[in-house]
Amino acid sequence: MRIANLNGRLVLLDASGAAVDVEEASGGRFTADPTAVYARWAEFRAWADAADLPPGTPFDAADLGAPSPAPAQILAIGLNYRAHADESGFAAPDTLPPVFTKFASSLTGPVTEVALPEGGHTDWEVELVAVIGTEAYRVAEADAWDHVAGLTAGQDISERVTQMVGPAPQFGLGKSFPGFAPTGPCLVTPDEFRDRDDIELSCALDGEEMQKGRTRDLIFSVPALVARLSAVLPLRPGDLIFTGTPAGVGLGRSPQRWIAPGEVLVSTIEGIGELRQTFVAS
Ligand code: ZN
Repeated sequence: MRIANLNGRLVLLDASGAAVDVEEASGGRFTADPTAVYARWAEFRAWADAADLPPGTPFDAADLGAPSPAPAQILAIGLNYRAHADESGFAAPDTLPPVFTKFASSLTGPVTEVALPEGGHTDWEVELVAVIGTEAYRVAEADAWDHVAGLTAGQDISERVTQMVGPAPQFGLGKSFPGFAPTGPCLVTPDEFRDRDDIELSCALDGEEMQKGRTRDLIFSVPALVARLSAVLPLRPGDLIFTGTPAGVGLGRSPQRWIAPGEVLVSTIEGIGELRQTFVAS
């Protein structure tokens, strides 16, 4: 099953990718609010699996918002691919990866224009994003997928000057400028993937491929992350986990490479779709 946020309304996507309005198709049983569905995830899935849906309506991807537009928490994971830890100059984590937050005001849909912070070094990080479906607290890794509503694509856009300016790297602020957390284009339930633990992700800047990886190379897989994070705090319906980025970021290149005004970043995840960010000077 695929769902999306079309002009602020929850839609199901049919086999052709066209949109079916959930509030209308369910006769009002489920509201149009894309945020509200996660609190009733099991009930919604049961309805959607059995529903006899009307034909969908084609739409423009620029009209999509974030699949989970108002999460209580956005957790993000650092150094979760060995080759990216290497290029960043850090040891790969063994018991727990670095965990930080992207503040919710940076969250957007998949097709956006993003202002580059003045004097900054703005970088790309394509990431698989897991969206929580049912509350997870102290969940065993073996049960963790049951708490995931689905997967979407994310960009952990990162301004490295802000990240590195203090005595120790700080991730929250430099990764939370407006528009720095695009997600989408849709949420795809885990059963839709050939292998939910081995998904290709990549990004290209102005047509030049910068990153290409597979989630089988995650040091902490999606279920491992749900288990580790939920050992500390409850993960709530609609929460996002940015699972980390593969190698190929601008920070790790020689010479280093930053995004310039006018450049277009396209991030693609197999089985989900693409994000498209156009950068402008601020
Ligand atoms: Zn990241």
